[in-house]
Amino acid sequence: MSKYDYLIVGSGLYGATFAREATLRGKRCLVIEKRSHPGGNIYCEEIAGINVHKYGAHIFHTSSRKVWDYVNSLVPFNRYTNCPVAVAPDGRLYNLPFNMNTFYQMWGVKTPAEAQAKLDEQRREALEAMREAGVTEPRNLEEQALTLIGRDVYKLLIEGYTEKQWGRRCADLPAFIIRRLPVRLTFDNNYFNDLYQGIPIGGYNRLIDRLLEGVEVRLDTDFFDNREYWESVADRVVFTGRIDEFYGFRYGRLDYRSVRFETETLQEPNYQGNAVVNYTSAEVPYTRVIEHKHFERFGSEVYDNPLTVISREYSAEWSEGKEPFYPVNDERNQAVMEHYRELAREDAGRVIFGGRLAEYKYYDMAPVIEQVLNLFDSEIA
Ligand code: FAD
Ligand code: UDP
Repeated sequence: MSKYDYLIVGSGLYGATFAREATLRGKRCLVIEKRSHPGGNIYCEEIAGINVHKYGAHIFHTSSRKVWDYVNSLVPFNRYTNCPVAVAPDGRLYNLPFNMNTFYQMWGVKTPAEAQAKLDEQRREALEAMREAGVTEPRNLEEQALTLIGRDVYKLLIEGYTEKQWGRRCADLPAFIIRRLPVRLTFDNNYFNDLYQGIPIGGYNRLIDRLLEGVEVRLDTDFFDNREYWESVADRVVFTGRIDEFYGFRYGRLDYRSVRFETETLQEPNYQGNAVVNYTSAEVPYTRVIEHKHFERFGSEVYDNPLTVISREYSAEWSEGKEPFYPVNDERNQAVMEHYRELAREDAGRVIFGGRLAEYKYYDMAPVIEQVLNLFDSEIA
């Protein structure tokens, strides 16, 4: 008989939630993690008393009451609401997402009717240009943005940012990337449409620590360094690493976009007055600057800190050795992934593939938790 019911590879949100739920049901779990800390990409590093989002800014948001109650039962959340500001190529500041504040700043329009008229005029232009080219549906991100929001917003707030983030021209990117950004005719700078939003008071590590309470975790342990042994210690494997690596790159490597963070401690209490400031000009090499203490404005003493910590984010082409952050949604990668999915289906009795890397999907945090909870509600139960 194996020593454990589950070997869980990876201590990110998927692995940690799985470990908690399985342990609560009396299962014996072992979590192995190749990094020297648990938590995957939501891990925070404390610098000058401030919780620094080491792998990129994370804002928890969801409309699922079940997920919101679950995380709040583990650690209290604050009332942080994400309201990014953009510095545009014209040197001016604009509110995001695209809403009445943005339209006032851009066009001086004061009512929803005036903004609508302006949007309609610009969308008409874009639709006519598409008709002349003989197309009815936006074929790429550029056409999608122009028909959704018009030329002015596209040129000032979208084009440069998107080309930096993805390292390709907007005309060569899929339309869906931009569809998730809200367009609102209200004075509402909340980046998300979800019912619930916040940051764990005291930082994300508290959430991870609660999830892993009473669970055996081995850090600095890479599954692939001793695969046979690790596979032998448990009846089933929960794998949250890269699926192509699990299958020895048999059908080729999956691509990612990576991000490089330049983090700096500044001798001042408040650098930019907001947690997130985007730089939408192609001339500025970074995409955004995160000032971490603003995530903790509510329910924490971090504001008394005379210092602040910022991170500049540079989007980067991924290569082996860099952090694989965003899956690349193009045809080649989708086709390769389909082969791995087929193998995963064959192995379903032995291995559960879950989370961002194993499913090669851009998952927010809440859906990852929801998936695990649903799994325990249905199959495993
Ligand atoms: P991960 O966090 O990647 O965890 C996987 C773990 O497995 C890692 O710790 C890794 O080291 C470990 N591992 C991998 N291979 C091995 C191996 N061979 N052996 C041992 N261990 C291994 N979501 C939101 O809801 N809001 C946000 O604002 C938000 N912002 C984001 C910003 C960025 C830059 C990124 C990249 C993601 C963001 N997300 C956000 C998404 C969020 O990070 C994910 O939903 C979540 O972290 C997924 O958890 P996971 O367990 O699937 O993956
Ligand atoms: N986007 C943009 N300008 C901005 C912010 C976002 O054009 O100031 C576009 C960009 O194409 C990006 C997409 O909207 O890829 C989704 O943005 P979001 O902030 O949701 O992406 P994330 O950084 O969370 O992946």
